[in-house]
Amino acid sequence: MGAAFLPAPPPESPLSFGPISFLPGNKGGRYPYCHSLILSGEETWVVDPASDKHVLSRLAQAKKVTRSFLSHFHEDHLKYAYLFGQATLYVPKQEIEAFTSLEGMFALIGADTTVFQEYLRQTLVRDFHFRPFSNLVPFQPGDRFATGEIVLEVMAAPGHTPGHSCFAFPEQEIIFLADVDLTPFGPWYGDAASDLEVYADTLVALKKTRARTYLTAHVQGVFTWEEAQAGLDYFLRVLNEREELIVELLGEPHTLEALVARRPIYRRPREPAFVYDHMEGRMLKKHLDRLQRARGVGRDRGGVRQGVIRGSLPITVAQRPLAHL
Ligand SMILES: [Zn+2]
Repeated sequence: MGAAFLPAPPPESPLSFGPISFLPGNKGGRYPYCHSLILSGEETWVVDPASDKHVLSRLAQAKKVTRSFLSHFHEDHLKYAYLFGQATLYVPKQEIEAFTSLEGMFALIGADTTVFQEYLRQTLVRDFHFRPFSNLVPFQPGDRFATGEIVLEVMAAPGHTPGHSCFAFPEQEIIFLADVDLTPFGPWYGDAASDLEVYADTLVALKKTRARTYLTAHVQGVFTWEEAQAGLDYFLRVLNEREELIVELLGEPHTLEALVARRPIYRRPREPAFVYDHMEGRMLKKHLDRLQRARGVGRDRGGVRQGVIRGSLPITVAQRPLAHL
């Protein structure tokens, strides 16, 4: 790997930017939590309410929160949405089925085995208070919502998930990057509906934005423009480095299962193993699909391509010039 990217710790207590408050998540904003925003205009709104149950419960008692905005459907962003039962939930239009049924969530995730579905069913309901939401309003890129001195603008930032959105607050010169989270791990695209190349395009597009402050949903959470530029460069670098590592491993033929066991994405075993192996496999496949198109990886000697997808045949790499993301 290239130069390490060392994040600073997130703020220990809420940080205010005028009427926008950054509320740090438990565990340093690491999964199963994320950092939230509290927007205090004429009405009180929350963004990604999965930070701190104690603080969000107090907010729910003290204020009438009328809207919750979710950057995407992942459970570590909606964990405490249930505390704001009266609020209307604003969600990405492309992901609306994930908010109305577990089956909709399974489809986007690509949870296609009974074991994985049962695991998710239990975890999402028990730990993340998932229930089909009825008070939903879909949003799309370009939509604007205003209260008091706050204008929230929806920015398309797909890749992590198809509807993943950033929120710009032009009055305060803030962009909330959500799960383009600029953590040392790098980009995550482990769902069936995630898209590696679209994620890379999102990173390039975000590099062209100019805000005073960038906020993310995990770990460091608060960045200057310069720090965000460095973080976005790092994310692009990680994509390339993962791909180079995969190509290197494919110097010898591997089945997909054998490649997953080498963990070119996660680098170390994590529990529950079947969940992490699933995500490792999903992310690997996205690289292999891209490599297949760009560099001829994946054709075995008989020219059969299915080996990559099914993981049943050895995967080989043809010597083609480097393609860059
Ligand atoms: Zn996410």
